[in-house]
Amino acid sequence: MEPKLSIVIPAYNEERRIGRSLESICDYMKGSGPYELIVVDDGSSDSTAGVVREAMEKHPAISILQNNVNKGKGYSVRRGVLSSRGRFVLMSDADLSTPIEEIEKLHKELGEGYDISIGSRAVSGSMILKRQTWYRQLMGKTFNKFVQVFAVWGINDTQCGFKLFNGYAARAIFSMQKIDRFAFDAEALYLAKRMGFSIKEVPVVWVNSPDSKVSILNDSPQMLKDLLMVRFYHFRPMQERALNPLYPKEA
Ligand code: UDP
Ligand code: MG
Repeated sequence: MEPKLSIVIPAYNEERRIGRSLESICDYMKGSGPYELIVVDDGSSDSTAGVVREAMEKHPAISILQNNVNKGKGYSVRRGVLSSRGRFVLMSDADLSTPIEEIEKLHKELGEGYDISIGSRAVSGSMILKRQTWYRQLMGKTFNKFVQVFAVWGINDTQCGFKLFNGYAARAIFSMQKIDRFAFDAEALYLAKRMGFSIKEVPVVWVNSPDSKVSILNDSPQMLKDLLMVRFYHFRPMQERALNPLYPKEA
């Protein structure tokens, strides 16, 4: 049976955070119908996979995909989404900085007819219970200015790791998505707009987890470089969409 919801979690060296998150999610999903929880272990060098396999023994909804080496969050989310089968697809960070209950707000928007609803820390109504460091906030705000110019206009926070898609939209978008590292969200939303999918930015709760995998020094230049490539990667008209075997079947 097609699961109602696929939850995709990219995980790089998350042994300390992911066990608790998997428990919270499975607890929350109890009794809510068929779902699948796909963890994509992004070449972790710690015991992330071991922690996930332990949880799999208790919860058959969980499965794991493993990248041989660290490929990046974008690559991992893409791999998870393209193997998903759900009517809806949620991507969530392993640390659940946005608590799983927030899916209800996003789901409501899909019920109103949106194809995609994305968690946001930058629209009024969002509740930041623990903030990122001031330099991460600055990096986020600055990056967003570039995103608005070079990729998608009109979205204030493309980078929140909590997004819900209609399954057909998720799989159509990620079948064309190329960026492997942290700028992939902006590219995915750019593609969504080009493909004509509607996006709703929804204020959510955010409790920052200090143990971040994002390094300002190493990741900012790469993010900027990737962002500048978005339009170049996708300069061709979007009739490729018709070539995607998943899209016409599901739409
Ligand atoms: N992540 C990944 N591959 C990487 C880096 C990060 O899959 O190379 C995952 C990470 O495990 C987490 C998500 O991407 O689930 C976001 O990372 P993090 O929570 O460190 O980012 P932040 O909250 O600081 O934005
Ligand atoms: Mg985090």
